[in-house]
Amino acid sequence: MPNREAAPDIEFERAALVVDAELRTELGGPQEQLSAADLTAAYPTRRFVRGWRIGADCSDGIHRRIDLLLSRTFPSGFPRTALVDRPEHMTWPHIEHDGVLCLLPLMADVDAEKPGAVAINLVGRSFRLIEELVDGKIVDRDFREEFLTYWFYGSDSDAPRVYSLVRPGPPSRVVRSWRDGKGLVVVGDDQASLEKWLTDYRDAAPGRSWRTEQAALIWLGEPLLPSEYPVTAADLLPIAERSGEDALATLGTVASALPEDTLVLMGAEGRGGPGLMAVTTTSARRVLSRTGRVERPLTKGFRDAEVPPEWAIARTYSPTPLLRSNVARADAAWIHGRGQDPRSAPLLERTVTVIGCGSVGSSVAARLARAGIGRLRLYDHDELSWSNVGRHELGARSVGQDKAVELARRLAADFPHLSITGEPFGAHALITLEAERLRESDLVLAATGSWQADGELNRWHVDEGRQIPFVYGWAENHASAGHAVVIGPEGGCLRCGVGPTGVPMFQATAWPEGEATLEEPACGNHFQPYGAVELGFVVDLLADAAVQALLEPTNQSSESLWLTRTNRLYANGGNWSEQIHAMFGEHFEGGRWTTRVWPTRECIACGAEA
Ligand SMILES: [Zn+2]
Repeated sequence: MPNREAAPDIEFERAALVVDAELRTELGGPQEQLSAADLTAAYPTRRFVRGWRIGADCSDGIHRRIDLLLSRTFPSGFPRTALVDRPEHMTWPHIEHDGVLCLLPLMADVDAEKPGAVAINLVGRSFRLIEELVDGKIVDRDFREEFLTYWFYGSDSDAPRVYSLVRPGPPSRVVRSWRDGKGLVVVGDDQASLEKWLTDYRDAAPGRSWRTEQAALIWLGEPLLPSEYPVTAADLLPIAERSGEDALATLGTVASALPEDTLVLMGAEGRGGPGLMAVTTTSARRVLSRTGRVERPLTKGFRDAEVPPEWAIARTYSPTPLLRSNVARADAAWIHGRGQDPRSAPLLERTVTVIGCGSVGSSVAARLARAGIGRLRLYDHDELSWSNVGRHELGARSVGQDKAVELARRLAADFPHLSITGEPFGAHALITLEAERLRESDLVLAATGSWQADGELNRWHVDEGRQIPFVYGWAENHASAGHAVVIGPEGGCLRCGVGPTGVPMFQATAWPEGEATLEEPACGNHFQPYGAVELGFVVDLLADAAVQALLEPTNQSSESLWLTRTNRLYANGGNWSEQIHAMFGEHFEGGRWTTRVWPTRECIACGAEA
């Protein structure tokens, strides 16, 4: 019986032998092997188990040595290299504190099945990188382009964690910060937006006030080199001076409030877009004087209100150590597209009203939040019951709560950079009491599960001239088909496609047993195991139609359809309708998405009688 533990070791030993042989062949002789003790001494935080030391003369006449290093994951994992004869850490980019080189992104095009070739290739690349560093041209360039990486190496473990909501761009300006007292600082552009974010994030009572302080954002002309990183608060003044008048003025304004700890964000444009770094001053921390009394160094000798501005600046930005923090961006542009997706910005400006937060509407609303719709307004008059839990975005914790209110609360806490509200009433009350809310929307999505409610919304939409798109969604029996109807300013209204009994004329499925009495859409038999899963296709269909209608609006009303797999439909006792067979033939396998034109006629809502 094979020993399963030993198998990877055999593979490793075989690959290591191949590497050793390849090094002899390529480099003209055996290379110095590192002992286990050498490896532990030189790389205590790594798990290297085999290593070779390889020397070469560089173009500046200096002989330098590189270690080729293998861990147990080799050959499925790549080897690493390290520069033995190196300058102090952060003098050269791409070299970690223990000398290990950062070349791995370049290894993607190497065949991992040839361990010898991989090793030789890596050693070659490493010496070429060293030559470039000796030459010097890439040193400053690479430090600046990837400044966040190098700032990360130099950050302090006891510095505050910083979440930033600020817009990462010029000019230098005063921003607001809030501390949770446990080492977290949240920075926002202004008091109102910061309070809104905190209220949602901490699920606090609306109207709660938050104690915030001024903080500084210094926008740098170019990223700092490691040699320019501020060490003491006094180092901030020349950095601000080089960044312009407004930078220096910002530091002055923040200091004049004499905060205990001053947070200074520094931002710059790197290769991958803007980045933020943060420092915290420690000048104001209470110290014990020689007599043992607690002193407040910022205000010493003055009463608080009397400290002259130039003294406040000199004392806040004194030669006392700074704490360096990495900044985690939590602003909307970063969360929805890492700041790189041009579709994020318009969606963040949009308002979508979702009417009906049942099994379909609740999940569509969650999708729209993830898509980064800036303002979501949710409406539903129902409470969540236990029978809803199996297919609703909310679960057991929310049973007995208003669906829309509770869903909005949960989504707001998860997406505090968006504006999400919920009201416990349905379509009729919305039209009667808050029609202005509908008019302010860029899109209205109805997943009401009620033809009567949809009909009422349609009449209002027609009366208002159909100026904004309405999207209606429902599922057929067993979620075997989904419909997303977008009613635009031209083409049919919703009622145009609805028959005299109030049910849509176009049905994708037929139910010989008579199960498909669709008096209430979206209400099919979801208690079947596949129901909740199948419903996901319908949810995606609707979310897709809504985002599409916002990003690439078309005037003409249209319908998107999701059709389940035919074998699933048959298993549930259904058939495709005559209309589906007319579209896709007698041997339709199902499992597809399609669109059709929404019909136009002189209906009682929009036609001559209207
Ligand atoms: Zn019509």
